[in-house]
Amino acid sequence: MRRGVALLAVALAGACHGEFSVAQRFDAAQAMRWVTYQVNAGPRVPGMPAHDSIEAWLVRELKARADSVAVQAFTYVTQPGDKYHPAGDTLHLANILARFRPADPNRILYLTHWDTRPVAENDPNPANRDKPIPGADDGASGTAMLLEVADVLKRYPPGVGVDLLFVDGEDYGDFDTMKDVLLGSTYFAQHLPPGYHPLFGVLWDMIAGRDQVIEEEDNSVQFAPEVVDRVWSTADSLGLGGMFRRTDAGAIIDDHVPLLQAGLRVIDVIGWRNYQTWHHTLQDTPDKLSLASMQGVGRLAVALLR
Ligand SMILES: [Zn+2]
Repeated sequence: MRRGVALLAVALAGACHGEFSVAQRFDAAQAMRWVTYQVNAGPRVPGMPAHDSIEAWLVRELKARADSVAVQAFTYVTQPGDKYHPAGDTLHLANILARFRPADPNRILYLTHWDTRPVAENDPNPANRDKPIPGADDGASGTAMLLEVADVLKRYPPGVGVDLLFVDGEDYGDFDTMKDVLLGSTYFAQHLPPGYHPLFGVLWDMIAGRDQVIEEEDNSVQFAPEVVDRVWSTADSLGLGGMFRRTDAGAIIDDHVPLLQAGLRVIDVIGWRNYQTWHHTLQDTPDKLSLASMQGVGRLAVALLR
């Protein structure tokens, strides 16, 4: 843990040039088209057709941009205690890791989940609650944003190693019992690249909602406070203080938790206010997103890599 802090100080000292100009190159309109592309493909639920087709699309698009792309394929057997699924089903899952400057020991990790939820348990209409969500914000927004970050890094290569990790199976199961959820991030945390110690990491989840407010998440503040400070102060310097507030989001169980437990300093950037409106309903559609939110978060993600 202390070693991570010392390395971060070195990274901060070198983080001053080009930060704003390259951040402007983030094309939010392109990212929004990639949101729509994913939603139009259908639910990215393990076992459904769009899960395979979007995995293939993501690998193809990332290979055109990153220095290396690896697919971490694995199987998972569903557990007792998930009220949405029978136990004993075998899921075929895939994390996708796209790397820039793969040999550079100084690395930054960004992750998001690319799968979508098979049930809409918060939908106001009970008849919809066993249907898969469209996942425009919850799944597609972070995936599209990181793909556009890859595009910027292809055109403006970073001065630090960057890992873009797209995890599977975040949203499959039951968050009340914590059964069959966070599957890809848990698997990645248990099978890290050898000697893997990124300077810091950020999970980007539900990042493009309209009227978006992003507050400080408790697990992030408790276990990686210096990363929270870095991200929120960079947001301030980009004029994003209206979106990134220093108020408390509460504790959120998300893909950063298995990574924090593995000793990586990874925080959660999540559009909390949206969570209370269309989260896990059939209303999580592209019209709930805004170009301004995507642009602000995308520019921040790029600026943090400089
Ligand atoms: Zn979700």
